[in-house]
Amino acid sequence: TLPRGPISVTFEDVGFAYPGGEPVLHDVDLTIEPRSRIAIVGETGSGKSTLAKLLTRLMDPRDGRVLIDGTDLRDVRFSSLRERVVLVPQEGFLFDETLLENIRFGRPDATDEEVELALTELGLDQWLEGLPQGLRTEVGQRGESLSAGERQLVALARAYLADPDLLVLDEATSAVDPSTEVRLQRALEGLTRGRTSIAIAHRLSTAEAADEVVVVDRGRIVQRGPHREL
Ligand code: ATP
Ligand code: MG
Repeated sequence: TLPRGPISVTFEDVGFAYPGGEPVLHDVDLTIEPRSRIAIVGETGSGKSTLAKLLTRLMDPRDGRVLIDGTDLRDVRFSSLRERVVLVPQEGFLFDETLLENIRFGRPDATDEEVELALTELGLDQWLEGLPQGLRTEVGQRGESLSAGERQLVALARAYLADPDLLVLDEATSAVDPSTEVRLQRALEGLTRGRTSIAIAHRLSTAEAADEVVVVDRGRIVQRGPHREL
């Protein structure tokens, strides 16, 4: 078990191939300081989601190592990893239940007040007030009564309640209306404050808000620097 607090992340000569497939990551070396907010950008199929998945041990690297705070992920207990590293996937799963149940999924003990506070902290209180039944709003099958952007808001609120030390966000590619875009940006700002975060950015706004941008091309890191220099 590792102590809690913002984590550093290191990819050390990481190579990866899916079973029976060609290599999709090559010699990835990347160090991310505690509390820094990194955006990863690159074309479709370049390996961004694969990097994200390695961080939560959905699979392990074929070559090299992935470390948090200098410890190989393979030596970190799963229970500790689950608490400290949260991945918000590209297509998060919503249940045919209320907004409340969807947000506190993973933290079933959370009260209405805690969920409301989380939404307020993320600047989403006005959004909540605008919903017909507030936290009791039914989201429908797979969340289909919400817009794609709103489903992401739910995913961010869920991640906030989980309170991870490392947040890995695989941003959805779907188009979002301007008011939801503003809400997503604000929520992301609140969620990443004081934490180490890695956001796979499909939106320019996410990359702009990051401390540094990492560019991935065909499984390799080809550039890294502040947004304005890229
Ligand atoms: P996108 O921007 O479209 O989300 P990405 O940068 O996240 O793309 P990855 O999902 O990491 O790309 O995929 C990298 C490569 O690995 C692609 O060639 C993809 O086809 C392949 N790949 C991804 N997932 C699997 C899988 N489960 N099994 C086999 N190959 C996969
Ligand atoms: Mg992806």
